[in-house]
Amino acid sequence: MHMNHCVKCDCKNTDNKPIREYLFAPFECDDPKICDLLAYFLHKAPDIESAHSDKIDRSIHESIYRSLIDGRHFYYEKITFYGASISVALKKCGMEGDIFCVKCKRLVCRKKSKEESNLDCLLRHIRNSIAHGYVYYVGDKKTKHIVFDDYNKRHNLSARIICVQSDLENWKTILNKQRNN
Ligand SMILES: [Zn+2]
Repeated sequence: MHMNHCVKCDCKNTDNKPIREYLFAPFECDDPKICDLLAYFLHKAPDIESAHSDKIDRSIHESIYRSLIDGRHFYYEKITFYGASISVALKKCGMEGDIFCVKCKRLVCRKKSKEESNLDCLLRHIRNSIAHGYVYYVGDKKTKHIVFDDYNKRHNLSARIICVQSDLENWKTILNKQRNN
């Protein structure tokens, strides 16, 4: 099997290991910063299914979502509608299948309902990915990439997110500000 063509046209990544080889148990890694971040997105991020989570006023969801994404330099970002398959979007950015570039940041998430906001959609998928153990860690000297996968009940991918540790740190800071307001 070959690596899917990456969305970034000058991508030099030739690593073509299947994603499963990067699977790691979220709370058994030896990096306390990563552990803290995953604990936050599992329990404390706003609007998720957790007793430790607070609600954010719906009227500001979209502006918060934009502030999470804008400026973080994702090569591809797509929130698809409820009912739609995400495979087209995954294909478009070279993230379908088991072998794909894990070093170029992109995200594809499917909403669970018409009403779900982009913000809730993103945070729900990250939370589920950690809760169900579909987190992959690709660390090198320079950057720590993290891949979050989420599946629906039929075991089809409903989200795939490739980000770096500093994205999660930035997102946590932004979301915590809302909490303290
Ligand atoms: Zn790439």
